[in-house]
Amino acid sequence: MTVDTDRDAAFLAGIAQIADEIAAANADDVDRNARFPQETFAALREQRALSALVPAEYGGAGVSFDAVAQACFELGRRCGASAMVYAMHQIQVATIVRHLDGSPWFEDYLRDLVVSQRLIASVTSEVGTGGDMSRSVAALTPGDGGMASFEKQAPTVSYGAYADDLLVTLRAHPDADAQVLVLAAKDQTTLEPTGTWDPLGMRGTCSPGYVVRATVPTEQVLGQPFPAISTESMVPISHLLWSHIWLGIATDAFDRARAFVRAAAKRAPGQPVPAAVKLSHVMTQLSLLRAEVHSSLDMWNGAADDREKLSTMAFALRMNNLKLAASEQAPVVCQQAMGVCGIVGFKNDTPFSIGRHLRDSMSASLMVANERIHQTNAQLLLIAKEV
Ligand SMILES: Cc1cc2nc3c(=O)[nH]c(=O)nc-3n(C[C@H](O)[C@H](O)[C@H](O)COP(=O)(O)OP(=O)(O)OC[C@H]3O[C@@H](n4cnc5c(N)ncnc54)[C@H](O)[C@@H]3O)c2cc1C
Repeated sequence: MTVDTDRDAAFLAGIAQIADEIAAANADDVDRNARFPQETFAALREQRALSALVPAEYGGAGVSFDAVAQACFELGRRCGASAMVYAMHQIQVATIVRHLDGSPWFEDYLRDLVVSQRLIASVTSEVGTGGDMSRSVAALTPGDGGMASFEKQAPTVSYGAYADDLLVTLRAHPDADAQVLVLAAKDQTTLEPTGTWDPLGMRGTCSPGYVVRATVPTEQVLGQPFPAISTESMVPISHLLWSHIWLGIATDAFDRARAFVRAAAKRAPGQPVPAAVKLSHVMTQLSLLRAEVHSSLDMWNGAADDREKLSTMAFALRMNNLKLAASEQAPVVCQQAMGVCGIVGFKNDTPFSIGRHLRDSMSASLMVANERIHQTNAQLLLIAKEV
């Protein structure tokens, strides 16, 4: 990964400090109590990290996408849930930046996001469509005075209760199949809880279901059609940032296993440490994950501003494969790292605990079910000329 500007370096220095000093210190409590990582987000807001991706012309820091991906990795090493909330927010910001299409309303929105450090949640999943982002049941219904309303049954809205705004997929009109993306501010929205949040992992994302209802001015609808937004930005950016988090989680699991082996070697100098060989196997698996994540980022960097490249089947296959490979590989690394540490890795209260890493990483294959993505890839593989 290349971080080649002073601005990126300063941004990442701040992120590393927040990750090491705040996210790490609160990670176990966030996990145990399935609570929002408020200390980490207060610090991120103070550093104006929520607007990191907003271009300088709107007052943002204008840091590179690489740096934001690296930030997801750094946060992921310390607290998977904090990293996931940060990544999901950045996916929404990047999507708006890349598709606002000169809209004065969205330009002003970005300026406000910089000043107020607004946090944006995502409402793409829907009861009845599962993780199929390309379909919506809920629709925008036009009203009087340039307003439009919607009601969406959302099964999972991460940090919905803590977000300032929601970016929502909907059908453009009650008679339309075509989808649009709508920005609904919290004061235009009601969230009616439909469930609780007591999951296996990623507990701090605080992601229960809601019925989301809102009435918004139609200027809050992004002008570009959702399929283009999804192909050119939302899907690849999600897969890239998520996979950086999973790499961060797996890297910390490996680091803990390595610390365990080194401590064992120190206790008995000159004696063989049987777990050391296992650690070498874990490193091989971690290297495969790292290679997939970094080479996919390189591919993105070569295509990010080229709509034609972004729309190729080869690019879609590669970004889908990143999600599949990284989401399957991260739990493998965590489980093997636990095998290195043995019982002290299994216990929740030792310096070598890997339970949270393993549980958090197991959400990866569900964040849009891998089988859905495999099915899409299977169809593309039949017709794609290049892979
Ligand atoms: C920690 C976490 C946070 C999340 N946060 C958000 C959020 O903030 N906003 C948001 O919109 N979403 C979010 N999601 C995503 C969302 O919850 C789920 O991806 C979505 O609701 C799909 O639900 P499902 O898991 O029941 O999957 P489904 O896709 O409905 O799948 C259910 C089962 O059917 C199988 N299946 C489904 N379709 C196919 C197919 N075509 N071929 C083969 N098998 C198939 C799957 O493999 C799976 O076993 C989050 C998910 C997680 C894990």
